Amino acid sequence: MGSDMLELNTHQIQMNQRVADKTEALAQLADALENGGLVASGYLEGLTAREAQGSTFLGQGIAIPHGTPATRDKVRSTGVRLMHFPEGVDWGNGQIVHLAIAIAAKSDEHLRLLQLLTRALGEGDITDALRTATTAEQIVDLLQGAPQALALDSQLIGLHLPVEDFDELVWQAGRLLKKAGCAGSGFASSLSRAQALPLGNGLWWLNSEESVEQPGLAFVTPDSPVEYREQSVVGLFCLASVGEAHRQLLERLCDLLIEGRGDVLSQATSSRVVLEALGGEVAPDWPHIRVTVANDHGLHARPAKALTEVAQSFDGDVRVRLAGDEGRGVSAKSLSKLLALGVRRGQELEFLADPAIADDALPALSAAVVAGLGEDVRPLPAPGDAVLATQEEIAECEPAVAALARGARIQAVVASPGIAIGPALVRKPLQLDFPEKAQDAAHERARLDKALAEVHDDITRLIANSSEKSIREIFVTHQAMLGDPALREDVDARLREGLSAEAAWTSEVEAAAQQQEALRDALLAERAADLRDVGRRVLANLCGVESAAEPNEPYILVMDEVVPSDVASLDRDRVAGILTARGGATAHSAIIARALGIPALVGAGSAVLGLEPMTPLLLDADHGLLEVAPDTEVLRRAQEARAAGLRRREQAEALRMEPAVTVDGHAVEVVANVGSSGDAEKAMALGAEGIGLLRTELVFMDHPEAPDQAAQEAEYRRVLDALDGRPLVVRTLDVGGDKPLPYWPMPAEQNPFLGVRGIRLCLQRMDILETQLRALLASAEGRPLRIMFPMVGTVTEWRTARDLALRLRQEIPVADLQLGIMVEVPSAALLAPVLAKEVDFFSIGTNDLTQYTMAIDRDHPTLSAQADGLHPAVLRLIDMTVRAAHAEGKWVGICGELGSDAAAVPILVGLGVDELSVSAPAIPLVKARVRELSNAQLQALAAQALTLESALAVRALVEEHC
Ligand code: PEP
Ligand code: MG
Repeated sequence: MGSDMLELNTHQIQMNQRVADKTEALAQLADALENGGLVASGYLEGLTAREAQGSTFLGQGIAIPHGTPATRDKVRSTGVRLMHFPEGVDWGNGQIVHLAIAIAAKSDEHLRLLQLLTRALGEGDITDALRTATTAEQIVDLLQGAPQALALDSQLIGLHLPVEDFDELVWQAGRLLKKAGCAGSGFASSLSRAQALPLGNGLWWLNSEESVEQPGLAFVTPDSPVEYREQSVVGLFCLASVGEAHRQLLERLCDLLIEGRGDVLSQATSSRVVLEALGGEVAPDWPHIRVTVANDHGLHARPAKALTEVAQSFDGDVRVRLAGDEGRGVSAKSLSKLLALGVRRGQELEFLADPAIADDALPALSAAVVAGLGEDVRPLPAPGDAVLATQEEIAECEPAVAALARGARIQAVVASPGIAIGPALVRKPLQLDFPEKAQDAAHERARLDKALAEVHDDITRLIANSSEKSIREIFVTHQAMLGDPALREDVDARLREGLSAEAAWTSEVEAAAQQQEALRDALLAERAADLRDVGRRVLANLCGVESAAEPNEPYILVMDEVVPSDVASLDRDRVAGILTARGGATAHSAIIARALGIPALVGAGSAVLGLEPMTPLLLDADHGLLEVAPDTEVLRRAQEARAAGLRRREQAEALRMEPAVTVDGHAVEVVANVGSSGDAEKAMALGAEGIGLLRTELVFMDHPEAPDQAAQEAEYRRVLDALDGRPLVVRTLDVGGDKPLPYWPMPAEQNPFLGVRGIRLCLQRMDILETQLRALLASAEGRPLRIMFPMVGTVTEWRTARDLALRLRQEIPVADLQLGIMVEVPSAALLAPVLAKEVDFFSIGTNDLTQYTMAIDRDHPTLSAQADGLHPAVLRLIDMTVRAAHAEGKWVGICGELGSDAAAVPILVGLGVDELSVSAPAIPLVKARVRELSNAQLQALAAQALTLESALAVRALVEEHC
């Protein structure tokens, strides 16, 4: 599977061909495609049929012969073959072709190629250059050589911006370039290092080549002049520079300044004036109409041609652009320009017509598009069943699972960031019904033999198809499990007892898996998961149910909900990404996915369970977006983004040991959340400046009975040793609620999250808290120790716990000790001004704080996705806590999952949080993120976030500004 990309290269081109006529040219092209293994024989019929429907002549000596839907099944893989005819071939109507590009495409992958081609054709006429070309390299250069044009349109102009200083003006310009897709996130910080040049008249110029995605020029003016190097600034040009793309513009700007007309720019009150002065793209102020394209394959050559014919029938200019694009559009009379728009089904076009013809032309164009431009079209989904379904919309249509259409985009909750691309493997709980007993043991044995043999063969195929060694090894192990004689013996014994093959097999596989798990060895426990996996395959075969075939390339695992044990047993090499219908970002499975570094989206709604097996998916867990069967262009961009993400990670990792300091010198401490004493060392190696949350209950859970003081001391010492003098923030035992301890039975509660948990439980069992505090104090041995109590909701709880710690400290002195609380119950945040006078620090547990503020169970299968810590209600509580602490000279950390959310970091830093405690793998990226930001701007941003109405609005604000 994977995407078929259409690329042009010299090997595809046969130069200097001579043919008698078009028929012979098509035959040779079909042969070239067939010899290249792209099509099966018989494709020529498709090429010929397509020409009979309408010539594929594109203009400028180029034709693009391709097949019809009827011959699509002859396409083996998507690709092109090119033939160069210096003497020319008459393609009908006297149109002479010097270059034929024969396309084999299974669907509409070729639209991207057309877009590229037609961009090249847009600039000047290349007919002659094609005819006289002597090498394949020349042809490729001609087709791909169109330089990237400089973007300059109204969205890149910001006039009279309310900025306080030059830096802010620069930042605004960077923001416009970023929003227009010209620059990536490192661009703004590269600008702050660049030297601005004065152009005279108060106009300044600044440019950078770093993190530029396409050339673009922004122009911004302040609402009142600002100072830079003791000179006044009334306007700033900011260039995202690539090669020579800006040359023409610069020349024009110089002419303007030499003519003494610089104030046209600095005093401009509309972007139109600026664009006209600089020759940028000005959209005509003409009547316009919008219409949506419904053709299955978008505006490909044939419908585009039909559209040009309608436009050409009017005597005046007709322009067209994608709706929402503010540029001047392209001529609707030009086939190549129309194709260059790359319009897909479902996209909306906007036609603009010269006022003299608009009354007639606009309705005619719209009607032609609605009628399908000569093709039969399927109606577009009504707005109510839009393909862009939000999570809530999908949740509403539960339980019916509607399949998702190709091109559908779904918003979901980011559980673990990153971008993953791969085929879907939908794992639904199999509904397998089988009889417990059977009459004929021999018959059951034969059935089982057959099932085992078939599953063995299936796995052999998987091994043969798998390019990854590690995956092959797993499958080989699975085969060994199928043939395990001891297992078989046990199963046979069950068959003799009269059990059915299904019942005998399942019960013995489960017993064997449990035996392995009981050995308490991580490796063997993983084997148990494998055993169950194989067991399910065989059972499905016995029941005649096809279990989803495992793709032979890294795939996206689609499930209803992933439980922590599922995630923990996942193989990073096989699972490229995780997508779940239900669940939220702070569920423990999400925390594990993050620790494993597997991109994951959760809470996408049950429609994802209706995905066809092997559907190609793009899981963009950097933006919380899933795309179903994305087109090649989207994939290409995602692959680039993924590569950029990997580069970003590499760069971040290279600098992981450096402190996290904003561009304007504000330091934020970045420390790690760890669950077991063994993880501390790993966290330090990843750049942690300390540990901000040691979840000690995991230490307790690792022991079969309550660990005594000595056992605990050993664990805490191990952590402090790894820290090598860096501070350790320990949370005292936080059990109850969702985290029961097997050896500490608790009465069942109606609402465990609102029951006896965290500090409440410890205050009922002071002996346990005392032992833990003693162990902590004893292990410190002069090293910095901070102890915090979880789930504190009242001042009394805090004081009781503190008094115990202070009493014990008299017995076991610790030089560098701080005592604080976790702020994870709204009452603690609301009481922060009181508590701040007594505590040494606060650490905000946003997972629980969000749960209790929003009244949404953090593990709730469908609601938890809405429990977003960036909700302004939660942010206000964080703000109150930080203000209260700082007023008393105390520090505040964040130890919930929000701290590693790239969108949340700017807001948390802006709110004044002093420390971010995040899962270890996130440390390098969180540090890198802080280094990109300017604290002064973040404060304003955070203040604005507090005034918004929803988490979504806060996320949009961050997306826009950072
Ligand atoms: C929190 O609630 O944010 C937190 C860090 O604690 P836990 O996730 O362990 O409940
Ligand atoms: Mg908590």
